[in-house]
Amino acid sequence: MKLRYLPLLALAAASCSHADKPAAATGPDARFDAVKNQFIEALWRQNPDYASSQGYHNYDSLLLIPNAAQRQNDDAFARKYLATLGGFGLDSLSPNNQIDLRLLRNELRAERWYTDTLKTWQWNPAGYNLGASVGDLLNGRHFPLARRLRNISDKISHAAEFYAAARANLRTPTQEHTRLGIKQNEGGMAVFGAALADSVRKSSLSAAEKKTLTDRIAATRTAVQDYLGFLKTEVLPKGPFRSFRIGKELFDAKFAYEIQSHFTAAEIYQQALQHKAVLLHDMGHRAARLFPKYLPGQPAPADTLALITAVINQLTLKHAPRDGFVDAVKRQIPTLIAFVNEHKLLTQDPTKPLVVRETPLYMRGSGAGASVSAPGPYDKGANTYYNVEPLPADWTPAQAESYLREYNDYTLQILNIHEAIPGHYTQLVYANRSPSLVKSIFGNGAMVEGWAVYAERMMLENGYGHNSDEMWLLWDKWNMRSTLNAVIDHAIQVDNMSQSDVVTMLRREGFQEKAEAEGKWLRATLSQVQLSSYFTGYSEIYALREELKQKEGKEFNLKAFHENFLSYGSAPVKYIRELLLRK
Ligand code: ZN
Ligand code: ZN
Repeated sequence: MKLRYLPLLALAAASCSHADKPAAATGPDARFDAVKNQFIEALWRQNPDYASSQGYHNYDSLLLIPNAAQRQNDDAFARKYLATLGGFGLDSLSPNNQIDLRLLRNELRAERWYTDTLKTWQWNPAGYNLGASVGDLLNGRHFPLARRLRNISDKISHAAEFYAAARANLRTPTQEHTRLGIKQNEGGMAVFGAALADSVRKSSLSAAEKKTLTDRIAATRTAVQDYLGFLKTEVLPKGPFRSFRIGKELFDAKFAYEIQSHFTAAEIYQQALQHKAVLLHDMGHRAARLFPKYLPGQPAPADTLALITAVINQLTLKHAPRDGFVDAVKRQIPTLIAFVNEHKLLTQDPTKPLVVRETPLYMRGSGAGASVSAPGPYDKGANTYYNVEPLPADWTPAQAESYLREYNDYTLQILNIHEAIPGHYTQLVYANRSPSLVKSIFGNGAMVEGWAVYAERMMLENGYGHNSDEMWLLWDKWNMRSTLNAVIDHAIQVDNMSQSDVVTMLRREGFQEKAEAEGKWLRATLSQVQLSSYFTGYSEIYALREELKQKEGKEFNLKAFHENFLSYGSAPVKYIRELLLRK
């Protein structure tokens, strides 16, 4: 059973997990709470790697062999809990439990679909990588070193069976995922190298334990090498391969399970295409007005895209100095807090301040310049960090300039709205007020990302940036990125759009650098649906707000809408919508 993670949002795992406390009463909500507790405990046993990643460490030593027996076991688990959940009527539960019930049903159905229909286990060689899970156990600080090493020793004692099952599973993989599997397992080999051997040597394990573990590490290295050899010499040069494009039927279903939107994948694709045209139109007007201000006396290009590019290139000259990037972010946070208060956009909680820090070394290099690390719902006292990565010291002046221009003075403010206030950080503070372990484990990525993207536009609509053409033009460009993510996701996976057409569109209409556009193509070949989540969540939230404005007329209150919307936790927008429209 594979579980999904919230995209692009580093949610630090709580140091330990507890299930929701059952209510004292014995009504349907109390019975449902009991089932949730039981389910989550069982879920961890069923998914030890996922449990570890969420901060639940009782099963760190377990390795599941990804064979047919395990798939049947997972299937029985899903059927059993679907049957149990079938005993609850939606209307008998509280609004928050209604959402939890629907999330759980969706998750269990999705897991069965992944195994029976999408069958990633047959075509994605990167799905098998012991280095990744062992690396997390080794670097995790939950247990002292000796205990971590004993867990690792038990876990890798079945490495040969693990990789034998992986080889047996693979049938006509994709070439792209085969390359990824090679790359990631080569990276995984590093985990079983000198640093681990060093840790074993200096640990307090007995001599016999050290010997056993050292032998198991050697056997694991052999198993990984054999798998790599198989991928490199049997699979990669010979094939046959299947296309990485999953096609309409699978894409539609995956979209429905993962995004849980009240729109279909095809509807979102059409909306994204329309939105792209609206953004380009707006950019053309703003660029035409700004051109004489920034390039006085020069002839404006006749081609609109060239005109927009010329103006953007002027605006991005305003940026932080190379050694002042983190400071520039830090200085903006109080301004954002004050703006949200002054404009009564939502109530903020001053007791849960956001701590801006330089990204810790062990988290750097993922390509995310900024991220939020939030405490889990049962670790509410811990800090929420806004990690900002200083520019790497070894970057050339040209590399640094390109990055600083990407995050110029305008875009940096939009990024801070997205990541921090009132974006991800603010949403998480609200989510933690109605703690639901189900929502924190199966929270909806489209809602989380959609809120952050919605927050950008909402701030600008309320006058942040003084309604200037400069700010809106760079917002258009920024928003175009999530819009094009949704466009290419569908166009590539369903409509066979070619690499050169995709890269050309991202560069011309998205105004992206070559490296960014090519990186996006690669990501779009390795994932499906995830790239659509930002735009889908954003357009659903925006549409919901407009729908409520219509319905409530003069009664509509923006602050109340935001606070009500956020009060249900990280739930799919379609469920929040139903609850808000029912009020
Ligand atoms: Zn016009
Ligand atoms: Zn985000």
